Amino acid sequence: MTVMSGIGMAIDGDSGVASLVNPQGTSRAILVCEHASNLMPERFGGLGLSKEQLTSHIAWDPGALELSLRLSSLLDAPLVHQRYSRLLYDCNRPPHAADAVPRMSEIHEIPGNADLDAEALAARAQAYYFPFREALSGFIDARMALPQVPVLVTVHSFTPVYFGKPRSVEIGILHDADPRMALAMADHLKAVCAHDIRLNEPYGPQDGVTHTLREHALPRAIANVMIEIRNDLLADAASVNAIAVLLADAISAANSRMEGERQHV
Ligand SMILES: [Zn+2]
Repeated sequence: MTVMSGIGMAIDGDSGVASLVNPQGTSRAILVCEHASNLMPERFGGLGLSKEQLTSHIAWDPGALELSLRLSSLLDAPLVHQRYSRLLYDCNRPPHAADAVPRMSEIHEIPGNADLDAEALAARAQAYYFPFREALSGFIDARMALPQVPVLVTVHSFTPVYFGKPRSVEIGILHDADPRMALAMADHLKAVCAHDIRLNEPYGPQDGVTHTLREHALPRAIANVMIEIRNDLLADAASVNAIAVLLADAISAANSRMEGERQHV
């Protein structure tokens, strides 16, 4: 089945690497979820991993797609999400990154990625990264042609325990060279909720996690932010909804603040 976006772009909804949800959404925000899925075609044999590993945070961001879909609905925002596991190719990394096709994820070795030569690595990028990049880029360009300037919001979740250490940060608001939206969102969230909100934690640009922002938002000079939610806060539908409501308000507040700043320039 091919899903038409209504603005001249088609994304194959069933067999392509990118899915587009609510392409006609009226929000300024374009949501992106690069680690939405743990799906792997049969031929990869699960990369030699156990079922438990393939459903854990190393294969995807648990809860991130549900959160993205809820945000898409609350904000009436379009969402572009990856359809395959980041263990095949991490679409939030450029092809030259050592962890684009990870041999290790946290404490887990990935046997099916251990001995790939340059050709096999290039084939993974060709199959998963470039089509996703082109679909996202094409969609952003189409939105850039509309009167309303878009903003880019990427949605992730992180594991509560990493390398055996519990993490106390609950909501990470990450930015790269353009902090406008992150600062506005963090200010709003700190004022309205008791969650542990931090800027550029548990990861930051130094970890290479802002690739999508760098690739798609900074060159277009559109405001952008990466959101990281600790995945125990996304354990069920009610929790996902509570976080989505909080974030939707924060995104709207940030958009209003940035709009006000634009008018005062
Ligand atoms: Zn992620």
